Amino acid sequence: METLSNTLIGTAKRIVIKIGSALLVDAESGDLRRDWLAGLASDVAMLRDMGAAVVIVSSGSIALGRSVLGLESGPLPLERAQAAAAVGQIRLARAYQEVLAPHNIEAAQILVTLEDSEDRRRYLNSRATFETLLDLGVVPIVNENDTVATDEIRYGDNDRLAAQVASMAGADVLVLLSDVDGLYTANPRENSDAKRLDLVSEITPEVESMAGGAGTAGGSGGMVTKLLAAKAAMHAGCAMAIAKGEGARPIRAMLDGAPVTWFRATTTPGQARKRWISGMKPKGRIVVDAGAAAALGQGKSLLPAGVIEVSGDFHRGETVEILGPDGPLAKALAGYDATEARAIMGCQSREIESRLGHSGRAVMVHRDDMVM
Ligand code: GLU
Repeated sequence: METLSNTLIGTAKRIVIKIGSALLVDAESGDLRRDWLAGLASDVAMLRDMGAAVVIVSSGSIALGRSVLGLESGPLPLERAQAAAAVGQIRLARAYQEVLAPHNIEAAQILVTLEDSEDRRRYLNSRATFETLLDLGVVPIVNENDTVATDEIRYGDNDRLAAQVASMAGADVLVLLSDVDGLYTANPRENSDAKRLDLVSEITPEVESMAGGAGTAGGSGGMVTKLLAAKAAMHAGCAMAIAKGEGARPIRAMLDGAPVTWFRATTTPGQARKRWISGMKPKGRIVVDAGAAAALGQGKSLLPAGVIEVSGDFHRGETVEILGPDGPLAKALAGYDATEARAIMGCQSREIESRLGHSGRAVMVHRDDMVM
């Protein structure tokens, strides 16, 4: 029978899988669960054979580092947690590399902070790197850059981080693998009448009340952060699943009908991005010639050669208005700061380096960053 999991995973172009610490690190021994991880690698290979690009958001660095260093149990002071993360992360990255290698899949490590997506320039840079890695067929392994985090490292942050990564990478499916198989109408550990929901189409106050604070999902983040992640994902055009990850091959199990809760996306990733760009206030204007205006109309990126005027003061990643000979054409995220844009306007791509004194990007505005 065709299930929601079959449909959503089967048609996904880009899938983000978030893996909680408890799945990766054995609670008793503190060792990495290698066999489980090898199974997950088989799932990744399967998804790629089905035509999807895969990004993994993995927790586990602190849990692993803590056991390697023999640190005390219970909450760690920030500097000890950061030290543990530094030790654990290098092992974690290596483990992913090793389990993916037999499938001829290269892994890449990306460490980000939640603020990275708030800073426009960093957002555009990370986005471009994700794009390039996925084009090259690499599987990015993402975690929070815990060693430079300035706040307490909160379990559950990776749920939200995963939603941000899904949005940044334009993913259409996000799967949170954890120790619960979905959202229940009440805490299933306390209430035997609690029922799991198959599908949530909207996060209403009623749905929020079902999450009921911390503790619902054991120690790992709880249902509250998972709902925050769901909200962000749905808004970004990405469907999200909460699924139980403990068993071998958890994604295969989903395709075979394992119980999960799905959160339906309210839009598509492309539409979400367009709405986001349209909603922003332009910080400047870029005027282009008739040739460039025609090229933009055909869905091409804007090259410096077609630009005849740049006004305003904006940074890379901020919003600009693009005008042609007949008036406004598009709203877009600038690929260059205003000063650099002025320095390279009208020039051919090969001249960019000599004008700027460093090698630059070929396009002034990427077509994915434009709303006509
Ligand atoms: N970044 C943390 C780690 O890798 C985990 C945060 C989380 O589980 O949400 O240990």
